[in-house]
Amino acid sequence: MVYGALDIGGTKIAGALIDSGGRLVARSQCATPAQGSAEELMAAVDAVLDDLAASPEWAGLSCLGVGCAGPVDTAAGTVAPVNIPSWRGFPLVDRVRAHARVPDGIRPVLVGDAVAMAAAEHWTGAARGVDNALCMVVSTGVGGGLVLNGSLHAGGSGNAGHIGHISVEQNGPLCPCGARGCVERFASGTAIAAHALESGWVPPAGAAPTAAAVAAAAREGDTRALAAYDRAARALAAGIAATIALVELDLVVIGGGVAQAGETLFGPLRRHLDGYAVLDFARGVPVVPARLALDAGLIGAAAAAATGLPGAGRGAPGLPAGRP
Ligand SMILES: [Zn+2]
Repeated sequence: MVYGALDIGGTKIAGALIDSGGRLVARSQCATPAQGSAEELMAAVDAVLDDLAASPEWAGLSCLGVGCAGPVDTAAGTVAPVNIPSWRGFPLVDRVRAHARVPDGIRPVLVGDAVAMAAAEHWTGAARGVDNALCMVVSTGVGGGLVLNGSLHAGGSGNAGHIGHISVEQNGPLCPCGARGCVERFASGTAIAAHALESGWVPPAGAAPTAAAVAAAAREGDTRALAAYDRAARALAAGIAATIALVELDLVVIGGGVAQAGETLFGPLRRHLDGYAVLDFARGVPVVPARLALDAGLIGAAAAAATGLPGAGRGAPGLPAGRP
């Protein structure tokens, strides 16, 4: 028995067959024709599926998870990824289901990329065995997914855990989503680099002004770089504290490119969280780095399909191995 998984993002379309222990047994990948037409994009997805279907393990396929950059609508089975402009309300679930090699009894299970990351960390990563966790991706955007009472909580349309668009400053800067003061507006890699530049930081000659370059400067003690990370960490801490107050968390896991800054981010984040999460039940929740990196999207899509999120047509097989 294997679980099938697709992970569709703005830069790559990946697919895998994953065993019941969370290990990849077959893999395929291509670049996303992000500016292509809707059909060109779907042709790339079909090609990845063709590739997987050519693997001998395909015969044991028991479910198929489809992770996609958000927003997604898991109830409708459609996607509208911000960074894939030609897919707006695109019926991804029906199109994957219509692929000639996808067996009749298998209904693809759509999952947003941040929720997939949470599913992956819960199955085989940093949140394994934890009943209540927030798993976040802090990268060019800020996303998240929730595990509550031991199960993935995706919400009715698959977007629960959207911590990047919790407002932490009522009159703060306008966010592209239309609201003000969203966590993402302070804590995304883009926001960190922009704030450092605005305060006078200059990247080394020949280097791009990225959050990673700001982190390198922070490690060398550049006060403007440190301030940009402190500001990001504070916004994250406020959003995390709000989430802890609402649902009581046992653990917070943070992955994504910005988390690669390590203690430059995690140090001030834990400090600020101590200041925001002050009620007895909210205090001292550990914040740790994600354990799964490159394949989290694939592993999470498989986990979401295997545990039978809404939309998982035929009997969900469950996750016998590796799952507490
Ligand atoms: Zn927003």
